[in-house]
Amino acid sequence: MTTVEGSVFPGVPADLVEVAERHGRIVAAGDNKAVLADFRPDRIAQLIASASLPPDLVKSELLDLRPDEGGLFAAHIRYTAADGSETVLRSRWIRLPEGWRVTQVRNLPATPPRMDSTGPAEDGNDTPHWEGLREGELRVPRCDDCANWIWPWRPICPRCHGFTVSWTAVEPTGTVFSWTRTWQPFAPEFSGHLPFVTVLAELPQAGGKRLLGVLLDADGVEPRIGEPVRAEFEAAPDGGWPVLRWRLSREA
Ligand SMILES: [Zn+2]
Repeated sequence: MTTVEGSVFPGVPADLVEVAERHGRIVAAGDNKAVLADFRPDRIAQLIASASLPPDLVKSELLDLRPDEGGLFAAHIRYTAADGSETVLRSRWIRLPEGWRVTQVRNLPATPPRMDSTGPAEDGNDTPHWEGLREGELRVPRCDDCANWIWPWRPICPRCHGFTVSWTAVEPTGTVFSWTRTWQPFAPEFSGHLPFVTVLAELPQAGGKRLLGVLLDADGVEPRIGEPVRAEFEAAPDGGWPVLRWRLSREA
């Protein structure tokens, strides 16, 4: 590998600078065949579905290119659309025998995906939970007879078979029980939001029940099992149901 002394991108092979700049130009030009040729062959479908760009791009600009973890190089390329809107993609590049290829791509800033199916179940039985999120409360059902926490919602207490279940607001905090990072675009809504981290958080104040949520600001972050998290309730942009997000309670 050769690097250009005094290059604007220190530590980056000169041929990669050229490749990345050219890649930005062919993306902006909509030359899909050439774009696909830049993708790592075994990840083409994933890469196509990972990033989200507006149509009618008119310009690209290589903002940054630097050595990254795992021997990869990360390029930040800004695309400008005909209406003046700007989108930044971060592509990670790997050197294969046949040349430099994109092995990962994502939109920046990293924003969490929102599922289309967000909201109460069809029977409406868990509506109080969603109404709670709207009012800034985390509500978990609890048996009035034996104080058993119930999650997911059931009409009858699984422990004492009591019929009276109340939605009870609890402190919206938990600890990381498990987590995973999703790289694959399993749903169309994931496009532009990959990769993202899902956390299964355990709520000691609610009988150890566990709630799933996408982790905020998770780009490049490795959560630890047992680490504290706090819930945030993200309003829907269209006035729909809010969603619960987790955030690590790490001190800055
Ligand atoms: Zn009970």
